[in-house]
Amino acid sequence: MRGIPWGSILASPLPPPSVLLLILTVLVLAVLVGRPLWVARQRRRLRAQPLPPFWLRILQRRVPLVARLPAPLQATLHARMRVFLADKAFIGCRGLEVTEEMRVTVAALACLPILGRDDSDYDRVRQILLYPDAFVVRLRHQDRAGVVSDGEEARAGESWHEGQVVLSWADTLDSAAVPDDGYNVVIHEFAHQLDDAHGLSVDLEAPPSGHDWAAVLGEAYHRLVDAADRDAATLLDPYGATDPCEFFAVASEAFFEQAAQLAEGEPALYAQLQRFYRLDPARWAAA
Ligand SMILES: [Zn+2]
Repeated sequence: MRGIPWGSILASPLPPPSVLLLILTVLVLAVLVGRPLWVARQRRRLRAQPLPPFWLRILQRRVPLVARLPAPLQATLHARMRVFLADKAFIGCRGLEVTEEMRVTVAALACLPILGRDDSDYDRVRQILLYPDAFVVRLRHQDRAGVVSDGEEARAGESWHEGQVVLSWADTLDSAAVPDDGYNVVIHEFAHQLDDAHGLSVDLEAPPSGHDWAAVLGEAYHRLVDAADRDAATLLDPYGATDPCEFFAVASEAFFEQAAQLAEGEPALYAQLQRFYRLDPARWAAA
């Protein structure tokens, strides 16, 4: 057995700085290139795994909208859910113990908006905070005269720029149970995440011109604002008149839950959403 010649190794001079820089560059490149490849491989594996029968029963019982999807899209939804559930942390708040039923229900609704897109659309989403029911947030408001007032407001959901979504489990259940009323807090909050990732509502305040995304959504947004000011009845929830971000989130809820009405009442808006989501929910089975 030969001993390791530590003396000669320790005595040898360090490689020149250019060689160290080269080694460092190669290591950084290996991480930059290797990590996406590793993630892609992991996701391919996850997508190939069928959902456990227990999860399928939860979908049947809790998320009736899934039954309306054509079979190939149901398979895609299952694959998206696998990746979503492996990637995202769920945190129970106010004493809520997060169950498999909660995770599966939230994942199914959250993955509807990326059904025709890609898992990577939610790469920035890190965690989902679940409250048992509506949660109260403290608000500080400053009016034009500079008077500051504090208040509280109950929320069913929130979407944060730092990749965090907050949901009320009670409102999630209600949203899932009625798939055709245009109200779905999970689709709404995850539409905000897509908006953050792609800057979808950035230009909607500008006066509309042309027929592209910003023009069509901007025009529909301004019409909703006018109708809300007049208290006129609208297909889209008047909450969408709050600002362009809320408009996109509300329009997304209608796109998935009231697709036929939206395609008929707002064909240009429907066509733009259809292009973005790469889906045609108006052709899915009726509720
Ligand atoms: Zn919102």
